[in-house]
Amino acid sequence: MTAPSLGGAARFDVTTPPPASGTTRARTGTLTLTHGVVETPQFMPVGTNATVKALSPDEIRETGASIILANTYHLYLRPGHERVARLGGLHRYMDWDRPILTDSGGFQVVSLGDLRVVDEDGVTFRSHLDGSTHRFTPELAIAAQEALGSDIAVAFDQPVFPSSPRAVVKDATDRTHRWAERSLAAHSRPDQALFGIVQGGLDPELRAASTEFIASLPFDGICLGGLAGDETPAQRDATLDLAVPLLDDDPRPRYLMGLGSPADLLEAVHRGVDLFDSVLPARVARNGQLWVPGGRLNIRNRAFMDDPNPVQDDCPCLLCRRFSRAYLAHLFRAKELLAYRLATCHNLTFTLDFMARVRASIRAGTFPASMAELRVRAGRMSDGEGAGKSA
Ligand SMILES: [Zn+2]
Repeated sequence: MTAPSLGGAARFDVTTPPPASGTTRARTGTLTLTHGVVETPQFMPVGTNATVKALSPDEIRETGASIILANTYHLYLRPGHERVARLGGLHRYMDWDRPILTDSGGFQVVSLGDLRVVDEDGVTFRSHLDGSTHRFTPELAIAAQEALGSDIAVAFDQPVFPSSPRAVVKDATDRTHRWAERSLAAHSRPDQALFGIVQGGLDPELRAASTEFIASLPFDGICLGGLAGDETPAQRDATLDLAVPLLDDDPRPRYLMGLGSPADLLEAVHRGVDLFDSVLPARVARNGQLWVPGGRLNIRNRAFMDDPNPVQDDCPCLLCRRFSRAYLAHLFRAKELLAYRLATCHNLTFTLDFMARVRASIRAGTFPASMAELRVRAGRMSDGEGAGKSA
C-alpha cells in the first residue's frame, strides 16, 4: 500500500514506538528537516503573515517552539511570495532559523465561501484584502511554497466542512486526490519536504479510501485534513481510530491540521498523531484568556486588578517571570500592546510545555496511564472555542 518517500528533505525516526499491548497509538519521534530537528508529538504556533502575532523571533523561541507554520494564501496576497524569494526566502525575511511548514492555501481559499469558485483545474477567488481576482492551482500553490522556501510544503487540496453531504465530500476528496498527484509532479525543490493531505470527511468509507490513496503516493508526510472543523470530539476520535491504523506500517509523520486546545491534542496524540498547528492559544491570549494548569483565567475579570501573583507560579515565560496578574489585568483594560505580547508568550509556553510533558510520558512508558493527570492539567479547553485554524 505504501510508497514512502522521506527522501532528501525530511527524515522521520520513531524513537518510542507504540506499546505492543495496543493500549495507545501514541509514539515519539524526531523529524529532521533542512533547518533543524523537531521532536514529536509537537505543536506548531501559527505565523499567518510571517509573524507569530505580537512576538519577536527570540520570544517565539523562548516559548519552546521548534517549528512554526506560515500561511501560503496570506503571503501570496501580501507581500507576495516572489517578493519574499527576492529578499532571500521566508527564513531570512522573518529572521527565523528553525523549521517552517507552509500550508497550501487550500483551507483559506476554499473557506472564502461566495468569494471563490472551484473547478477541476483550480480555484478562482477574490482577495479578502482588496477584492481583486486570483487563481490558485496545485502548481501555483507549490510554486509559491517553493518561493517561500519552507522546510515542509503541503499539497493543494479542497477541504470541506466535516458535516457536508456525502456527495460534496466525495467530489472534493476525489479532486483532492487528483490535485495531490499534480502537486507531487510540480514539486522540485530538493531541500523542501512535501506532505499530502487526506480528506474524506467523517464518512468511514471515503476517509479510509482517501487515507490509502494519499499514503500510496511518495509524500514525505501525511496530513489528516478536514477535521478540527465542525465535528464533535467523538466524531474526530472515531475518524482517527479509523484512519491511523491504516498507517500503522507507514514510516511517515502524521499531521492533524488545525487542532489547538491541549485537551484535544492529548486525545489525538493517544490516537497516533505526531504534528499539530492552530491559532487557538494565541488568539484566546489576545482576548485575555490565560491557560493555566487545570483551567483558565479570564484576566479581564476585575478580581485580578489587585492580584499580586504571577499568572502561573512555575511558568518560565516572560509574563510569569516578571509580572503580576494585576499588571496584566491593567494592561488589558488599558488596551496596551504589551498585554497581547505577554499573554501570547504565556499561552504558547503553556501549550508547548504540555506537549513536552506528553512526550516525556510516552518516553517513560507511562502513557496512556498518565492521560487522566494530563487531562486535568489541560483543563476544559475544548468547550465552545472551536479549533480555529484560519487566521
Ligand atoms: Zn507564563
